[in-house]
Amino acid sequence: MTTEEIYRRAVELYDETGPSAVYDFADTLGLPYSDCEPCDADTPTLDEQTCLVCGSEKKTTKIW
Ligand SMILES: [Zn+2]
Repeated sequence: MTTEEIYRRAVELYDETGPSAVYDFADTLGLPYSDCEPCDADTPTLDEQTCLVCGSEKKTTKIW
C-alpha cells in the first residue's frame, strides 16, 4: 500500500467506525506510535510525521 492509500483507508475507517478502527488498522500495518498534540494521545504515525487519526503533522522533537 502506498502512503496515500493507507491514509485514505484510515479516513474511511475513522468515518465508518471511529478512531479505534484506525488504531487496529495501524497495528496491522505495524506503524509506529508517537505523541500527537491535537489528539492529545499517542497515535499511529504515517510517513514518520503525519498523524493517522487527525492527519496533522506531528512535531518531531519528541521522537527524533
Ligand atoms: Zn492526531
